[in-house]
Amino acid sequence: MKRIASLLLALLFLFVCALPAMGATAQESFGAYKHVFIIGIDGAGGFFDRADTPEFDRIFANGARTLTAEAETVTVSAQNWGAILCGVSCFTHGISNGDAAEKERSGDVEYPTVFSLARKAFPDAELASFVNWEPINHGIIENDVGVIKEHRDSDEAVTDAICDYFNNGGAPTLFFVQLDSVDGAGHGYGCNSAEYLEQIHVVDGLLGRIYDAIAANGLMEDGLFIVTTDHGHTPEGGHGGITQTEREVTVAAAGKTIAAGGALDAETRNRDVAAIALYALGLDRPAHMTARIPANLFTGVDGEERPMGKEPREIISANYPWIAPVTWNGFSLQLYTAAMICGAVVLLYAAITAVLAAVKKRGLLGLTVFVCTALCAVLGTWASKLFVLWDNLPLYAFADALFLLCVAGVVMCAAYAHNGFAFPKGKRLAGKVILSLAVAAAPYEIAVLVVNTLIYHGTKPTRSIVIAVFFQAAVLLASITVIIVKLCRENKDNNKA
Ligand SMILES: [Zn+2]
Repeated sequence: MKRIASLLLALLFLFVCALPAMGATAQESFGAYKHVFIIGIDGAGGFFDRADTPEFDRIFANGARTLTAEAETVTVSAQNWGAILCGVSCFTHGISNGDAAEKERSGDVEYPTVFSLARKAFPDAELASFVNWEPINHGIIENDVGVIKEHRDSDEAVTDAICDYFNNGGAPTLFFVQLDSVDGAGHGYGCNSAEYLEQIHVVDGLLGRIYDAIAANGLMEDGLFIVTTDHGHTPEGGHGGITQTEREVTVAAAGKTIAAGGALDAETRNRDVAAIALYALGLDRPAHMTARIPANLFTGVDGEERPMGKEPREIISANYPWIAPVTWNGFSLQLYTAAMICGAVVLLYAAITAVLAAVKKRGLLGLTVFVCTALCAVLGTWASKLFVLWDNLPLYAFADALFLLCVAGVVMCAAYAHNGFAFPKGKRLAGKVILSLAVAAAPYEIAVLVVNTLIYHGTKPTRSIVIAVFFQAAVLLASITVIIVKLCRENKDNNKA
């Protein structure tokens, strides 16, 4: 008995001794690095396992990675490099390729880059960014936070400049690189082409040179080496959409506290690179950031919940998970479902109308029309909303017009059914069409405006959202005017009669 008791005590003692050690691992990674290197390969998506990439494999042999991280909803370069460097969604930072090329950013921006945050914490630190695509240095990384900015016209020249920089004593606290040639091959030949995969192989060689220049100068002892991508490509070549090969991106990390062989969790986004960089340097994350530490990245550090931001898509995902823009083969399941339901409702309505008109029970028709109109309006609103989330104005306007016509059609059908399917002629027809459109548009536009206001309240509106809201307001105003004018006329006619 005594023996068992002492054995239990010994076990308890061992457990208590192990506790601080278990806790310490989690602490070890925070601020454990003096240098963070972020290497961005433009347009390479998650294709490092499809191309021949011996250098990537060597660098991350003891690293953690995912090749299926999520890019920003808008799979365009500035939207993603902005997210990667600022740690917020593309809808929040609002930087487009045009903005990045034309407008400079100063240190006092609402959503600063990790460079700006590192500068505040380390006033004397060396910070540097070497890019092939100049807009990153021009319009994403702030121009007044003392970042050494270098631009070259080819990936080879960028790599040469980087090697010179490190061999001449460069020791940056934070270092960013963007190589661009894989994106060019993607645009030219598509993601399934031999040319695209060959270019990834070529850039892999440059990646190896950059890593070796850093390691040879002793900076990997306290260095965290990250490789990420902004977006992939379609099989035809090009990006900006939501297909799998455009959306899936790479996040890979190597360093002394990185979990060897760690598979980053499915929630990982390329924007999480911002959170990882700050964590490694021991800097607290600003409250506005929606970047997080993935699971299986740092040894002993659990994956974090993604902070709730002001991003429309994230608000929708959290509050209305059933409508969150989940995609399958590049197609929104919710949009598809909404379109199907909408079609089914119209068909059902047509059937009910026909039956009721046949038995002349016209009283129920009004109610049916109202319910169908409301359903169409709500479904149409959600469908067009999804297009706004993708910042695709032409598609948005198309969906808007389509659903408006659909709702108007339902109203007109009902009007004819009331008439015993006798179609009006001449002036009366034109008047009825306009009135039907107006009656259909009013509840629809009100629904759209309410949803817009709820979702975009407190966010930085993109140009598309502003145009969309003005468009809705104008249509709503026109609809109400038509209804009032029509009602006044009818009243007048009735009084005369
Ligand atoms: Zn790009």
